[in-house]
Amino acid sequence: MAAFVLPPGVKMTPMFEQYARIKSENENALLMFRMGDFYELFFDDAVIAAKALQITLTSRNPDAEVPVPMCGVPHHSVEAYIRQLIDKGFYVAVCDQIEDPKTAKGSVVERAVLDVRTPSTAIEDSATAGTEHCYLGAVWWDKDKEAGGFAWLDYSTGEWSGLHARKEIELWQWVLKLNPRELLVPDVSREAFQINKAVEQGEIFTVRVPFRGFFELKAAAERVQKAQKVQELGALGLGGKDELVMACGAILSYLRQTKKRDPGHLSPFVPLDLNRHLVIDEVTERNLEIFRRLDGRKGLGTLRHVLDETMTAMGARLLEERLRHPWKDLEQIRATADVVEFFAENPYKREALRQALDEVHDIERLSTRIETGKANPRDFVALKHSFKALEKARASFKVCEPGIYPGQEESPEIALPGAASRIYQNWDDLSDLSDMLEKSFVESPPVTMTDGGMFKPGFHPELDELIELAEHGSERLDALLDEEKRRNSLPRLKIGYNRVFGYYFELPKGMAAQAPPNFIRRQTVANAERYTSPELNELQDKITVAQDRRKALEYQLYKEIGGLVCNELVRIKFMSHALAALDFWQGLAEAAAKRNWARPALNAGADILIREGRHPVIEHLVGSAGFIANDLILDANRRLLLITGPNMAGKSTVLRQAALIVILAQMGSFVPASEAVIGLCDRVYSRVGASDNLAEHQSTFMVEMMETARILRQATKKSLVILDEIGRGTSTFDGLSLAWAVAENLAERKDGGIRTLFATHYHELTSLEGRIPGICNMNISVIESKGEIVFMHRLVPGPADRSYGIEVARLAGVPQPVVNRAKKILAALEKSRGAASNSDAAKAVRQLLPGLSPDAVSREAERPVLPDEKKPVDHPVLTALKDIDTDHLTPMKALALLTEWKQLWGEKNQ
Ligand code: ADP
Repeated sequence: MAAFVLPPGVKMTPMFEQYARIKSENENALLMFRMGDFYELFFDDAVIAAKALQITLTSRNPDAEVPVPMCGVPHHSVEAYIRQLIDKGFYVAVCDQIEDPKTAKGSVVERAVLDVRTPSTAIEDSATAGTEHCYLGAVWWDKDKEAGGFAWLDYSTGEWSGLHARKEIELWQWVLKLNPRELLVPDVSREAFQINKAVEQGEIFTVRVPFRGFFELKAAAERVQKAQKVQELGALGLGGKDELVMACGAILSYLRQTKKRDPGHLSPFVPLDLNRHLVIDEVTERNLEIFRRLDGRKGLGTLRHVLDETMTAMGARLLEERLRHPWKDLEQIRATADVVEFFAENPYKREALRQALDEVHDIERLSTRIETGKANPRDFVALKHSFKALEKARASFKVCEPGIYPGQEESPEIALPGAASRIYQNWDDLSDLSDMLEKSFVESPPVTMTDGGMFKPGFHPELDELIELAEHGSERLDALLDEEKRRNSLPRLKIGYNRVFGYYFELPKGMAAQAPPNFIRRQTVANAERYTSPELNELQDKITVAQDRRKALEYQLYKEIGGLVCNELVRIKFMSHALAALDFWQGLAEAAAKRNWARPALNAGADILIREGRHPVIEHLVGSAGFIANDLILDANRRLLLITGPNMAGKSTVLRQAALIVILAQMGSFVPASEAVIGLCDRVYSRVGASDNLAEHQSTFMVEMMETARILRQATKKSLVILDEIGRGTSTFDGLSLAWAVAENLAERKDGGIRTLFATHYHELTSLEGRIPGICNMNISVIESKGEIVFMHRLVPGPADRSYGIEVARLAGVPQPVVNRAKKILAALEKSRGAASNSDAAKAVRQLLPGLSPDAVSREAERPVLPDEKKPVDHPVLTALKDIDTDHLTPMKALALLTEWKQLWGEKNQ
């Protein structure tokens, strides 16, 4: 690392010498330097932070020749400022005084950075009380070996995982899918286009390029073995996965560098086993709006939002995980669905459990805070409340449903499905811990642990005595005063306090002669004389000592309790996982009950049958009365459904709801349908034609085709493919041909096609039915009455009869004259369809509608007329040339035309 050098002209003081040394060790971070009650930033750091935090930039030495920029924040509110800086992507190195300034021996107080805060590892404040995972990721790709690894860690819970990949593109897809808050990338991979793409797409993660040695294999392997206390990497499923080991090693190095200690709270590393999960790639996840809407926002309008009825952050995070990686394993799915069904059918038990869970805080993150020494007294109180709710949660299993066993408790051992029963049998109320926390901490302790005030009376005898002295010192002073008044007959004697010599007696000036002999004069003021006495001094010493001693003892007790809790982390983690699972199950049951969902049947077959299926999110938005349910059947005769229908009819909705129902079913959830039978899927692919994408630019069509290519290569008999208007992003001919070829390829596989739902506005494709087995036309019905169209949103067999585009335009408010004109043009175009060739058609249109401009005609030449293979057709560029009216062509237009042709037909190798 480069050493930090003071700017020329700045006077080197012992303080700046120390600063420069520490700054050199934390070059990339903003250094917050503790000075008295403030954290100060200097030099460039100050300029950056002042701007980012909108605080005043001052100077340490305004009168010096070279003033030093400085800004600062008070220590008690430092966390809020740090959070702001982290959210903006900065590292923040917090530099504290590590010796007591009163007893410091050197010329400056000893200081050190004990923690560098980074976006994915900051667990200090309430911002981490979120219900979402926050990942630190690391990625390594070895070009020569064609292998790579991606590891991710949720530092706040200690859970980590990763995967090994043989294709670079796949590796990056996983990075995008997990969307880590911070990503460690070796410098060699930095330029990988996927990173640029991710940043372009507005992904929010911060990319860090750490020291290359972070990834070094041998050291990485040792670090992983040490952190996980294993002899063999094989024990962690890392055998033979060097690249993944390197990624894991980078994460550990990064923690070591920023946290200045090895993390002790990491769970055993469990690689993601793709053989056990339904794979939903990042693009599909986005298209289906699982976690975010297409506009990037979270919450309302996403599947997660509709599904999330969990009560705790732990349950919500488990839901997130299962939604990202549903199962592909019938046993796992059944195990989950059994418990979900149990809770769905036992609403009283569910409600009792929900009430108990409502009192549970984020135990997982609280225990990480305790383990890493970041906890404050309030965290312990939160933990206590959570532990106390455990007994209630356990009791919820025994709550009787009315009508069953009246007056009796049910026997849970008999009633509970397997997964829940295992939890119940190993249940731990953690009552020893909640009792201890109950006896010790007051109900609302202060946030800091150094100022006392944390513990209850009766918890610790010595502490009680100190508190009595510290807090009731004034009563004792009053008693002493009363005694002196009485003994010396001085009713006007008073007691006061000042910072210089503490407590004193005070007599009015005229009464000084009456001062008793044990009084020692300390001060004369305008109207009074002030004294101390040996008794007063003694009492004062006791009070101050008691205050200091109390703080120290409380801090010590606090540490001891933290240690006791740490010793029980294994038990605590077991119960936090148990609660997460229970919460996840009851949440799915609650969602199912609230929204009238049904338990799907799953099998290893290839058919999908959905009766009265609904789109969970749209139904939630429009209300169940306003949503039209649809049946869907994919079987041996219907492998690829070609769905046509006008815009806004509901094609995308039908497509997406099928994919969502499969995903829900495979995570063990109920589904929005009256009945569903799902042949297990290995992957779900959902792609939307380019012009539906929000961020439209040149490369979108390219991206669309790359994704289509991937589907064609990767999809298997077990996959479900959802294609919505594929091919739309290019000229009509290209688009139609591509859509055609893609549909054919998906349908014409050995032993039957890949399960596909294909929405398109190319009516020409509907002629594929009957020609290729398994392709089946469906449309979304529309009724026309008195020139008005009504969307029925109902999926019915057969092709749509026409596109109704102009009616939709009218519905959308396009002015009547424009609509009328469009109808006329359409009529002319349709008439021209019978023409022998495209150029004839174009000519016909031109004659019929002399108002059309030349380039409109050339575009018209591309209008889909079914390719007639027998007759040779002019190359479209020739047709277009013939139609150009050079008398009316401006140079700009000519250039534009030329560019368009070049794009369409002018590439090499065409
Ligand atoms: P398309 O893909 O055919 O253009 P969409 O699937 O985007 O149409 O649907 C357009 C709108 O119609 C949706 O936003 C929704 O509000 C409504 N809609 C679609 N399907 C249904 C349905 N089954 N029941 C009720 N409303 C629906």
